[in-house]
Amino acid sequence: MAGESVIDTEQKLANGWYSRLEFRLGVASIKQLPEDVGSEVAFSGRSNVGKSSVINKITNRRGLARISKSPGRTRELNYFSYDENTHLVDLPGYGYAKVNVEMRDAWAKLLERYLRERQSLRGVFLIMDIRHPMGKFDQLMLEYCQSCNLPLHILLNKADKLSKNAGNKVMSEIRRDLANVDASLQLFSALKGTGLDEARQKLGDWLYSE
Ligand code: GDP
Repeated sequence: MAGESVIDTEQKLANGWYSRLEFRLGVASIKQLPEDVGSEVAFSGRSNVGKSSVINKITNRRGLARISKSPGRTRELNYFSYDENTHLVDLPGYGYAKVNVEMRDAWAKLLERYLRERQSLRGVFLIMDIRHPMGKFDQLMLEYCQSCNLPLHILLNKADKLSKNAGNKVMSEIRRDLANVDASLQLFSALKGTGLDEARQKLGDWLYSE
């Protein structure tokens, strides 16, 4: 029941479940994925939107997501585990930046198959820079998620860079654009901690509901 899952998440939040996370493995091809059981939530975002900072903030583990940026890991799906069957998956973010066509195709194929086939994937956190939202990369992720019927939670990060009014205006514009999409939306600042409780609540609900 939805109500029960919220209470569970609140208890878990109080116990700080979100920080009990360990790097597990980097996945460079579909074959390397761990067994498709349990639940996982993926984090996605174009380079420089602050995805690593957001993951570090939400998990209260400074430096954790730096692992995903170490040489060789930037093209992989990086698995961080809460326990054997509960994972946060950091998706590679380059997509439209700095890569040649071949790499971009390989990335798109891996990502698309992962999103399409992964049974344990409960939803995707899509991180955007609030000053440059809904770019090509974001549109592509939206299309993937829509075509796979995957729920999306959009974090408009770096909200500290805009006034409250300006931030809310961006949020309502995007909400209007996404009226027909299964997506929720929030302001976030990895720098200031704005929106942290809401993000942890969403993550916990997705990971631990059912
Ligand atoms: P990634 O490439 O998406 O993983 O982004 P990083 O986490 O490395 O962040 C890119 C840059 O944005 C760094 O200089 C961060 O300090 C900065 N940054 C990340 N989040 C925020 C935020 O909420 N507010 C501000 N002002 N800067 C941020």
